[in-house]
Amino acid sequence: MIAYTTSAETVYTVARQLNSSLDLDEVLGKVLSLTVDATGATRGSLFLLDEQGRVLRQILARPDQSPEISRRNVNMVMEHGLAGWVFRHQYGALAADTTKDERWVRLPDDDEITGSALVVPLLYQERVNGLLALHHLQIRFFDESHLALAAGIAGQAAIALENARLYTEVKEERESLFKLINGMPIPVVVVDHRDTLVFANQSARQRLLVKQVGVPLEQVSGGPQLKSALTKLGQSGNGHIEVKWPDGRVYNVSINNVSKVGTVVAMDDITQLKELDKMKTQFVETVSHDLKNPLGVVMGFAQLLESEQNLSESGQVSLRGILKSAHNMQELISDLLDLAQIEAGMAGEVQPHDMVRLVLDTLPNFALQIEEKSLQVKTDLPFEPVRVPGNRVRLSQIVANFVSNAAKYSFDGGQILVKLTRTDGSVNFSVTDSGPGIAPARQAQLFQKFYRVPEVHAATGATGTGLGLSIVKAIVESYGGRVWVESEVGVGSTFGCTLPACLES
Ligand code: ADP
Repeated sequence: MIAYTTSAETVYTVARQLNSSLDLDEVLGKVLSLTVDATGATRGSLFLLDEQGRVLRQILARPDQSPEISRRNVNMVMEHGLAGWVFRHQYGALAADTTKDERWVRLPDDDEITGSALVVPLLYQERVNGLLALHHLQIRFFDESHLALAAGIAGQAAIALENARLYTEVKEERESLFKLINGMPIPVVVVDHRDTLVFANQSARQRLLVKQVGVPLEQVSGGPQLKSALTKLGQSGNGHIEVKWPDGRVYNVSINNVSKVGTVVAMDDITQLKELDKMKTQFVETVSHDLKNPLGVVMGFAQLLESEQNLSESGQVSLRGILKSAHNMQELISDLLDLAQIEAGMAGEVQPHDMVRLVLDTLPNFALQIEEKSLQVKTDLPFEPVRVPGNRVRLSQIVANFVSNAAKYSFDGGQILVKLTRTDGSVNFSVTDSGPGIAPARQAQLFQKFYRVPEVHAATGATGTGLGLSIVKAIVESYGGRVWVESEVGVGSTFGCTLPACLES
C-alpha cells in the first residue's frame, strides 16, 4: 500500500519533471516510465486520443510488438475492454482481478498473463485526451491507492500534454511560416538597429550573394545601395524606394519596422517594368517628334489660307476647325514630349532661380485670358528673392500650369490668388481659385496622366490634354519636392507644390 504523502510526493516529482519539457514525445515517454516506476507495474501503455476516441499516438512499454498487432490490440481494448470503458465514463477504473472483470479483454497474442490492471483518463477541460494503463502479472497487485496515484499523475500529465501540444502547434506554425517566407520568390531580409543582416530568405541570399546572416549590410552585394535606401526611408519609418543594384537590376525596396523583429525589407524586382517604361517613353518621344514637323506644315498652310480673301463662309468655318484641332494636337505633342523628357531625367540644367521673379515674369502671359473672363488676380509674394534650384523653363512651367488652370477653370468674374511662402528649407507655391472645385473622390487622380474631371468639364466646357498636372508633378518630384491639392465643390481649389529651397536664400 502506498502512503498518501508518498503519493503526493510522487505526483509532485512527476509534475516537476513533466514541466521541464515541451517536446510531446519526450513528455509521453516520461509519463509512462515515471508511472511504471512509481507503481511497480510490470507493463504500461499510454494512448493519445482524438475527440471520437480514435488513437492518435501510442506509447507501449512493449517495444517488441509489431505496429500492426499493437494497433489491432488498441482498437480491441478501446471497443470492448477496460480502456474503452474509461474513455466513455471519463474516470479511472481498477480491475484488481482481471479473470473476474468482464471489462477485461484477453488479447490473442498476449503471452504474459495480466493479473491486475488499472486505466486512468488524461482529462483536460472535460475531454479525455488520452489514457494511461498499467498492468501487473499478479492478481490484486493494484488497489485503490495505485488508482489514486495514477489518477494524480494523469492529472498533471494532461496539463503537460496540453502545453506540449500547444507548443508543438506553435512550433509547427512557426516552421511553416518560415518555409513560406524562405521560399518566397521576392527577396526578403531583416536588418537590426546596427544594420546587421539578421535574416535573409533564399531568394535574398542569391541576390545579395550571402551564405550566412549576422554580417554587416555593407559587406553584401548591393549592401551600400540598400543601406542608403534604408537611411532615406528610415526618416519616415515605412515606405518604398527604387534602388539600382550593382548588376544593373532595379528593385522597388519597401521597408516595415516590426517591433522586436527589426526592419523588414522586401525587394521587388522591377527591372523589366523599368525597361518597358523606358521603351514606352522612347516610343512616345519618337512618335511625337515625327508628328511635330508635318503638323507644323499643316498649321502653316492653314494660316496662309486664312489670309485668302476669296474663301467662302463655310470654307472659313472649316479652316477655323482645322486650325483649332491642329493647335490642340500641337499642345498634346508638346506635353507628351515634355513629359517624356522629364521622365527620362532630362529636366534641363539646374541653377538657382528666384521664384518671385519667375511668378512676376509668367503672370503677364495670361493677361488676355484674365481680361476676357474679368478675373481678379491677387498676389501674395515675399519682398525678398526666394531661390530654388531648378531649370528656368521647367520652374516656369509649374507656375504657368497652375495659373493657366485657375484661369481656364474659373467662371467669369472669379478670383485668383497666387501665393509664395518660404518655410525652413522649402518654398511653397500655390494658386487658389474660386472655380467649380473638385470632389474629394476625384482628387487622388488629378496628377495622373490624361485624367480630366468630368464634372469640371460639364461645368466649364474647358478643353485640355489632361497632361499639365502630371508634367508639374514630374518636374516637382525630379527636384525632390511634392505636389498637393485642396478643393471643395462650389467653393474653389488650391493647387500647390513644395520645393526644396537653395540654402543661401
Ligand atoms: P488639362 O489640360 O485638362 O487642364 P491638367 O493635367 O492640367 O489637364 O488638369 C487635369 C484636370 O484637373 C483638368 O482636366 C481638370 O478637370 C482638373 N483641374 C485642374 N485644375 C483645376 C482647377 N483649378 N479647378 C478645377 N479643376 C481643375
